[in-house]
Amino acid sequence: MKNQTMMQYFEWYLPEDGSFWRRCREQAQALKDAGVNMVWLPPAYKGAGGKSSVGYDVYDTYDLGEFDQKGGIATKYGTREEYTAAVKELQAQGIAVLTDIVLNQMMGADETEEVTAVEDQSCNREQPLSGAQQIRVWSKFTFPGRSGKYSAYQWSAANFSGTDWDEAAKRKGIFCFAGKTWNRETDPENVNYDYLMGVDLDTDCPETVKAVTDWGKWYLDTVRPDGMRLDAVKHISFDFYREWLKNMRAYAGRNFFAVGEYWASDLQRLLHYLDVTENSMALFDVPLHFKFLQAATSNGQFDMGSLFENTLVKARPEQAVTFVDNHDTQPGQALSSFIPAWFKPIAYALILLRKDGIPCVFYGDYYGIAHDNVPRTAELDVLLKLRQSHAHGGQIDYFDHASVVGFTRTGDMEHPDAAMAVLVTDSDAGSKRMKVGEQCAGSVFYDALGHHPALVTIDGEGCGEFPVNGGSVSVWIRQPEDGTGSPSERANNEGADNS
Ligand code: CA
Repeated sequence: MKNQTMMQYFEWYLPEDGSFWRRCREQAQALKDAGVNMVWLPPAYKGAGGKSSVGYDVYDTYDLGEFDQKGGIATKYGTREEYTAAVKELQAQGIAVLTDIVLNQMMGADETEEVTAVEDQSCNREQPLSGAQQIRVWSKFTFPGRSGKYSAYQWSAANFSGTDWDEAAKRKGIFCFAGKTWNRETDPENVNYDYLMGVDLDTDCPETVKAVTDWGKWYLDTVRPDGMRLDAVKHISFDFYREWLKNMRAYAGRNFFAVGEYWASDLQRLLHYLDVTENSMALFDVPLHFKFLQAATSNGQFDMGSLFENTLVKARPEQAVTFVDNHDTQPGQALSSFIPAWFKPIAYALILLRKDGIPCVFYGDYYGIAHDNVPRTAELDVLLKLRQSHAHGGQIDYFDHASVVGFTRTGDMEHPDAAMAVLVTDSDAGSKRMKVGEQCAGSVFYDALGHHPALVTIDGEGCGEFPVNGGSVSVWIRQPEDGTGSPSERANNEGADNS
C-alpha cells in the first residue's frame, strides 16, 4: 500500500487572474509523479472579496464561479467548470481531493437589517458591556445574482448569533443578537470563541443547520470530493461537525476522510475536541508546528529529544495530519509563524519519513512564494520520493540527545531493501550509532539528500555510525549496487519541468 501524502495546494498570494483551477488540472500528473496522492484545494465558493477572495470570507456557497456576483462570474481561482474539471483530473490521476469547507462565518451580505443586540467584552465573550441596543447589521443574503438557482433559501439575522460591526453607528464591537447565545461549547479562548468574523452562523438554530446540510448534499453531488478539510472548527459548537459529518457520510454512502483546523498549540484542547467529536475527523498537528518553530528559533538551545512530546502525532497518531506551514502561518498572514528556511528540510524529513501521521506539504514550500521571495524547499522532491520508496516497516527512535536525534526505518516484506536512517540536529554537527537491521550487514549507505559526503558501512549487528552536518538533516539509504544513480539525481532529472 502507498503511503498517504497530502499537499495543501494553494498559498495566500496566488495570482488573482482566474487561472488556478486550470493550473491544478495541468499539474495533476506532475503531482502524482512527485508522490502526492491527496490534495487539499482552497474554498471554491464566491467570497465577499470577489476575485481577490482567498475563499474564507464566504458569500455564497452555491456560487462556485457560475454567477455574476461580487464583481464577476469567476472566483479568484476560475469558473465552476474549471473547478470540477480540475477535481476530475486529479482523481483520474489517483489523487484524492479534499475540499475546504467553511461554515463558521459569512460576509458581504446584500442588505442590512436592524436587530437588537448586546455588546460583549472582546476578551470575555460571556461578559456583556451593555444592555440591549438597536444596531444595523449586514445579515441579509438574498443572492440576487443567482436568482434562486440550486436553492431559493435566503439568509437573515435569525440564522446568525452575532457580528462585529454596527452599520448605523459605524462602530466595531462583539455583538450578540437578542434571543441568541454563543454556542454552548467552543474553544475557551476569550472565554467563548464562537465568534471569529463576519456574521457568525448560529448552529443552535435548526434552520441554519438545515441550510448547511442541504447545501452539503448539493456540494457532494456537484463536486464529488474524496474528503474534506473543515475550517475554524474551534469557533463552531463542538457537537456540530460530529452530526453534520454523520449526515454527509450517510448521504455519500461512504466514510470519507475529514481533517479539521483546530488552531491551538495546547494538545489537551485538540484531544478534548476529538473526544467530543468521537474521532470522526483528524486534526492538523498544530502543537508540532509550534515545536518546529521553537526548535528553529532557539539558536540550537531547543531540546530536540522532546520534539514530539505533547504533539498530536504522538498522542493520537491515527487522527494526526502533520504539517510544517500553511496559508495562515506564511509571512503576512494572521497567524504568521513561518518556519525559517534552514529548518524546513529537517521538519519535512520529520513528517514525511516517519510512520505516524498523514503529512501535508505546503504549496508555498513546494513551489516557493513569489510574493515574499520565499524560495522553494529544494529537498522536497527527494523527500517525497523517499517517502514512497523507503518510509516502510518498523521504526526505531533515537530521540536521546538534546541536539542530534534520529530514527531508522527497517523496511517490510514489500520493500525489503528500504532500510533508512534519518539524522537531524538543531545545533553542531554530530553522529549517532543507529540500527537499520541485520539484513543490511556489510552494505554501504549514503546520504540521499547529498548533504553529507560520507559513506557508512553497516556492521555485523546491523548498525552504522551515521553523521550529520551542523543545523542539517541527512537521510541514509543503501547505495544501489548496480550504479543506477542516487534518488537525488533521479529526482533532479524528473523534476526539471516541475515548477
Ligand atoms: Ca462560530
